[in-house]
Amino acid sequence: MAALTTRFTEMFGVEHPVVQGGMQWVGRAELVAAVAEAGALGCLTALTQPTPEALAAEIARCQEMTDRPFAVNLTILPTITPPPYAEYRDAIVESGVRVVETAGNLPTEHVEALKPHGIKIIHKCTSVRHALKAQAVGVDAVSIDGFECAGHPGEDDVTALVLVPLAAAALDVPLVASGGIADARGLVAALALGADAVNMGTRFMATAEAPVHDAVKQALVERDEHATNLILRQLRNTSRVAKNAVSDEVVERLAEGADFEQVRELVAGARGRTVYETGDLDAGIWSAGVSQALVHDIPTVAELVSRMMDEAEEIIASRLTGMLV
Ligand code: NAD
Repeated sequence: MAALTTRFTEMFGVEHPVVQGGMQWVGRAELVAAVAEAGALGCLTALTQPTPEALAAEIARCQEMTDRPFAVNLTILPTITPPPYAEYRDAIVESGVRVVETAGNLPTEHVEALKPHGIKIIHKCTSVRHALKAQAVGVDAVSIDGFECAGHPGEDDVTALVLVPLAAAALDVPLVASGGIADARGLVAALALGADAVNMGTRFMATAEAPVHDAVKQALVERDEHATNLILRQLRNTSRVAKNAVSDEVVERLAEGADFEQVRELVAGARGRTVYETGDLDAGIWSAGVSQALVHDIPTVAELVSRMMDEAEEIIASRLTGMLV
């Protein structure tokens, strides 16, 4: 298999410049260990686990499945029931995990608590100004999320094609490009734009090891770039999710002037979890990025990563090099 060395692979001790980004309900040990074994950086999601103790157990389960490095995602965004962040963080520190992906609000307090333990932090954010603030508080790398992404794309609506080179020019720390990437073409393009690695969520959700119902994976294969909704825009907590009856209704209610309380039951993560578990695609809100249009199969994680690296080599060594005169 081809391999690419970047500042990211060297800093995080992985073979390939590919990250499986934090995905609520999806970032569990089965997927993360498979990503690690394939030579990329997998990411457990802390808030998928109901308690810090459950997170510690999930980290231990993942450590039994792989000796390779993996990360834990700690998302800092509005939640219906605010989680005990410091206790989740302590569980991460005590487990011996070496990498944390923070996402959302500026992670100052977490950086201060994690760094003395030698833990490396990748902060995921959606604008250059937030990336610079994160760098200033000491994160080791930044993951910049273009508007195409699933989950929270922020409020600026800047796509990765512009955001990644702007962030690369502004930052000194290694940069991960996120949003809209699902194959080798996206990887090579992101590296050309100045990124040191890519983050993929939607693409990893449609793999054999992803712990979600087959109907969700099949939907990602079948759906095109138009089948997402942007919800919670009016509340400045925009989230890109799969288009379905529930997300259509949330869009409609908020457009008519509803407040959070009037959509709370529809958007609740607990309801979205049912989609992943039962395959009922209209049971609640579930995340998907526009890159679902580039997802055409459900490979194993190992097949996905090796195919991506081989195709990246082919693009760089053959297609692009062949254009040089
Ligand atoms: P949840 O059930 O607490 O909330 C459901 C949704 O409502 C989330 O999008 C949340 O941000 C939003 N929300 C909650 N309270 C709000 C408020 N007062 N005002 C505006 N919006 C509000 O969340 P969950 O589904 O259990 O997820 C846990 C965390 O992970 C949340 O912070 C969520 O945003 C985040 N998440 C991130 C992604 C992603 O970026 N890929 C995907 C799913 C969830």
